Amino acid sequence: MARSKCPSCEYHEFEAVHITTKNGQKFCLIQCLACGTVVGALDEVKITNVIKSAEKKLAKFLETLNRKVINVCTRKNS
Ligand SMILES: [Zn+2]
Repeated sequence: MARSKCPSCEYHEFEAVHITTKNGQKFCLIQCLACGTVVGALDEVKITNVIKSAEKKLAKFLETLNRKVINVCTRKNS
């Protein structure tokens, strides 16, 4: 994987800064640790949604897996 670097000073370490706008919207800014150049912004609502949908997918996957395991076990016993 290529190493990320700051477009302004070419430093390679970044930090996440949480900010809240006047109307209460929460953002997460990714900025260069050395010069503070913002290289990206994430909407916190979006992050939460991504995590939630990943959780749902995982739960569904585990459910299917459990069912398959149960099927295999039942087959072995009969
Ligand atoms: Zn920089």
